[in-house]
Amino acid sequence: MGIIFKNIANLLTLEGAAKKQGRRVQVEDLSILNQAAVLVEKGRIAWIGSSKKIPKQFSKMNLREIDLRGKTVLPGWVECHTHTVFMGDRAAEFEMRNQGVSYQEISAKGGGILSTMRKTREASLSELTSQTQRRLEQFVAQGVTTLEIKSGYALNLKDELKTLKAIQGLKGIRTVATFLGAHALPPEFKTYESYLDFLAKEVLPQVKKKKLANRVDVFIEKGFFPVEASEKYLRKARDLGFEVLIHADQMSLSGGSEVALRVGALSGDHLLQIGAKEIRSLGASEVTCVLLPTADLYMKSKYPPARDLIAAGARVALATDFNPGTSPTQDLNLVGLLARLEMKMTLPEVIAAYTVGAAHALKLQNEVGSLEVGKSADLLCIDQDWQTLFYCVGDRSDKLVFSRGKKVFGKLK
Ligand SMILES: [Zn+2]
Repeated sequence: MGIIFKNIANLLTLEGAAKKQGRRVQVEDLSILNQAAVLVEKGRIAWIGSSKKIPKQFSKMNLREIDLRGKTVLPGWVECHTHTVFMGDRAAEFEMRNQGVSYQEISAKGGGILSTMRKTREASLSELTSQTQRRLEQFVAQGVTTLEIKSGYALNLKDELKTLKAIQGLKGIRTVATFLGAHALPPEFKTYESYLDFLAKEVLPQVKKKKLANRVDVFIEKGFFPVEASEKYLRKARDLGFEVLIHADQMSLSGGSEVALRVGALSGDHLLQIGAKEIRSLGASEVTCVLLPTADLYMKSKYPPARDLIAAGARVALATDFNPGTSPTQDLNLVGLLARLEMKMTLPEVIAAYTVGAAHALKLQNEVGSLEVGKSADLLCIDQDWQTLFYCVGDRSDKLVFSRGKKVFGKLK
């Protein structure tokens, strides 16, 4: 049975932003319809238009009517960069870092990612899945209908596969798994090069064969995964049929975004240390620039040059980078607020970055990110005006969330 969503006061379809592929988005690219209705069949949008002009052929259909009573509706958020699957927390380390110990020093002492690694390796698949499911629901309650999750806290064959299986076991919304075995050097290996060789030879073929992920990410950084070996590894991943992406130029200008451009990565993520040359190249490329301002807040670093990237024509996406170490928050509202306050992004740019831009980063732009005929009926319904989004710290306003036309959060009044 189809569903007709009626009485939508303002419908932000983002059609204009989608046509521009998320580049140089203006307010008119939010493509707002007033007094709108959306018809959904089998989880997909079959028709969009005026509430008063529902075509005759649909009125004969057996439709379930959902009266949205003057709500604002926009595409469900696409959260395109998280590390949601892990055990434990790193609260003690937060205290140390906040008292002046550096991230590099903490990881050299066996803290950082390696402490999360031990707990994640120990956990059973069902513990890991249920812990991750609880966190997923925190995202859904904010309007997220597509969630990317990276592995990378197990760093061995058996438990990395377990981590990816935990992602596969999640319910409620669309999830996208990314293999991030190249997140940190596990204690079993002496060099980054030998570990990357192991990942390419032993792990990637298993991930492919078991269909656990079709994306491979690597953390390129001074003191972590080196440029040359990482590029070789990503090329092997591409040869095996994976899409690739990169944690690039976060703590230093270490060449990650250059690698992203050379290997045709879907996205370069972080990018706060890039300069004029990288900005120009990224702007002219298909690489989506995923900016993660809550990580920058926690790291007390500068923020990425969003304005320059946008001016250069780059496609920008925003995400939480949710992880227990450097961005222990699932708060999308804070991400958008920082993008506005610290990166001077306009509100339409923020909304497009969290929908169309992020959909491109996941290569799901034909499926999600805008509300158009044929696309997934992933709807976020709010009581307030869209202009009050990403405005109040601690915003907890009511939400109603639909994934593929099915209600996944909130109460219909
Ligand atoms: Zn990350």
